[in-house]
Amino acid sequence: MEKRHELYRGKAKTVYGTDDPQRLVMHYRDDVSAFDGAKLAKLDRKGETNNRINAYVMGKLAEAGIRTHFVSLLNERESLVKAMTMIPVECVVRNICAGSMAKRYGIEEGTRLSEPIFEFFLKSDALHDPLVNDDHIRVLKWATTAEIAQMKALTHRVNAVLKPLFANAGIDLVDYKLEFGHPLDDPKGDLVLGDEFTPDGCRLWDAKTGEKLDKDRFRRDLGQVIEHYREVGRRIGASL
Ligand code: UDP
Repeated sequence: MEKRHELYRGKAKTVYGTDDPQRLVMHYRDDVSAFDGAKLAKLDRKGETNNRINAYVMGKLAEAGIRTHFVSLLNERESLVKAMTMIPVECVVRNICAGSMAKRYGIEEGTRLSEPIFEFFLKSDALHDPLVNDDHIRVLKWATTAEIAQMKALTHRVNAVLKPLFANAGIDLVDYKLEFGHPLDDPKGDLVLGDEFTPDGCRLWDAKTGEKLDKDRFRRDLGQVIEHYREVGRRIGASL
């Protein structure tokens, strides 16, 4: 496999093409951003830390029979993934109320939910990722009825794997965001999990102390961001 031209530069990752049109290289940079790119910084070792944590979590999901775009770790900062056509919505699952849900409904952060709550957001920095429902997604043709059902079902399956994985490490999996797509080598098949699972896209609280171990440390200027990301990796058993 040969790495080729840059295809896309996101806020924390850069995606490169390869000599195989069905494979891409995902490069995890040290950049961190919050509030739709309004707050930016570089954090030493973030790229390698997230690359490792993501590889470990994607591996656990694959072991549980959940298809992901992850193929293999290439080096410290890069992983090989399947090229996909992405659905332009973000799937959020919440086990504990926090962040935008706490603000929107005036519910105290930390309120435990009797069952997971699923939310869709449109992927659009310009519009600040507005909350959307099934009808918006279907009628505006961002995804079909079948894809909407699959995104929900897959997200709940992911939750059933990850909630205990983090709980066993003494961590509450509060909420997180997933993205799905169709691999280029199977465009009509079932949806496959794409993007990443790292402390950048979830909330993780120490189960005993409630200490934040995720990107809220950056959003809320709590300091020692990567030290806490690495603590997460170490506790769940990712080799860092
Ligand atoms: N999230 C994300 N990317 C986004 C929006 C949300 O990774 O563009 C994650 C976020 O880190 C959190 C969960 O999804 O773990 C729910 O986020 P929320 O809606 O509470 O928004 P926030 O207040 O984090 O902007």
